[in-house]
Amino acid sequence: MSDTSNPSTHDAGRSDLLGLSPEEVDARLAEHFETRGQVRYRADQVRAWIYESSVDSFDDMTNLPMDVRHDLSLSFMLSSLQLDTISRSTDGTVKHLWRLRDGELIESVLIPEGARLTLCLSSQVGCAVGCTFCATGWAGFSRQLSAGEIVAQFRASRAWARQNEYGPITNIVYMGMGEPLANRAAVHASLTALNRGFGVGSRRITVSTVGLTPGIRELAARPEQFGLALSLHAPVSELRRTLIPMEKRHPLPELMAALREFRETKGRRVTFEYTMIRDVNDDEALASTLADLASGVRAFVNLIPFNPIPYQDWLPSEPERIAHFKRVLEAAGVAVAIREPRGRDIDAACGQLRANALVRPQGAPKAVGGSAQRIR
Ligand code: SAH
Ligand code: SF4
Repeated sequence: MSDTSNPSTHDAGRSDLLGLSPEEVDARLAEHFETRGQVRYRADQVRAWIYESSVDSFDDMTNLPMDVRHDLSLSFMLSSLQLDTISRSTDGTVKHLWRLRDGELIESVLIPEGARLTLCLSSQVGCAVGCTFCATGWAGFSRQLSAGEIVAQFRASRAWARQNEYGPITNIVYMGMGEPLANRAAVHASLTALNRGFGVGSRRITVSTVGLTPGIRELAARPEQFGLALSLHAPVSELRRTLIPMEKRHPLPELMAALREFRETKGRRVTFEYTMIRDVNDDEALASTLADLASGVRAFVNLIPFNPIPYQDWLPSEPERIAHFKRVLEAAGVAVAIREPRGRDIDAACGQLRANALVRPQGAPKAVGGSAQRIR
């Protein structure tokens, strides 16, 4: 998998300001206004619209003269998302289904948790990795998202959160649709923009990967303290291969070496995500193998009950089995938590994104407010 299908951040010669670093935005705007002999503080005004508001048309930048807005729209664009459907869970989780300019659909999820508001972002339309337990993977891959389209999810979600008194977005996880490290150029640019432009602290941004080691090393080489989650799901290669085809290309020993490197360079604890599927990866013997692996890289382990997905009859592990795994890990000195999936009633939980949208029959009503039906 490569970055070659990255959509352009340019549209008819216009650059997408949302996909640039704040320094690049400043430089482009300064040059734009200088060459037109216009006052420099216009750049500060545009900057404020980008980072503080959610307007996606220069026309709406109402403190600028009309001709200035027009000139800007000839040189630049701001990626925008059209709201297709919004679903709100009884637990407060909100899923937005967004339509992109070419008609493709992506989802992002807002998860309130005490004072924290976490945004779960998509990095691709679909996913090419094809993990057997993941609805996003089953639906296949359409295209990469541009950096601007990733950042646009943040801006649009922030606008919704402000209007609905959800407070500021405090954390970001790249755990929506897609494999972020298979779209490295756009994901790296979006990390920079979200961190330095939109002011989300690097320690509060986590990239989740199925285990693309070149991407892990690249993330480790960045100066910021972005977090890393590895979707492990099986502590032995033979089993992992049956769940995650990528295991064949980047097997566990290679992966663990990259994680050790990440930990050593960043001094940051990596998280293992372990989705527990009944009679698939929850054999009692696997708990101690998992403990060994986690100890080896001093990872934090999240045990997540599997979310059933369409066209697949697997079930989540029994609560007692999950508790047993937790006890074995704790006894081995591994930090571990059981994570209950959020937004289950609206199919907002991990691995379910896009499934509902894709199987909704033509003309069927759009689900809103916890009434979403999964069609099997
Ligand atoms: N591609 C990246 C990020 C998106 S998936 C990755 O795989 O890490 C986000 C998380 O949801 C991953 O940990 C993934 O393994 C998990 N997941 C996928 N399908 C799931 C399911 N049906 N039940 C529970 N977790 C699932
Ligand atoms: Fe892609 Fe992640 Fe789903 Fe695997 S779990 S198919 S990598 S989105």
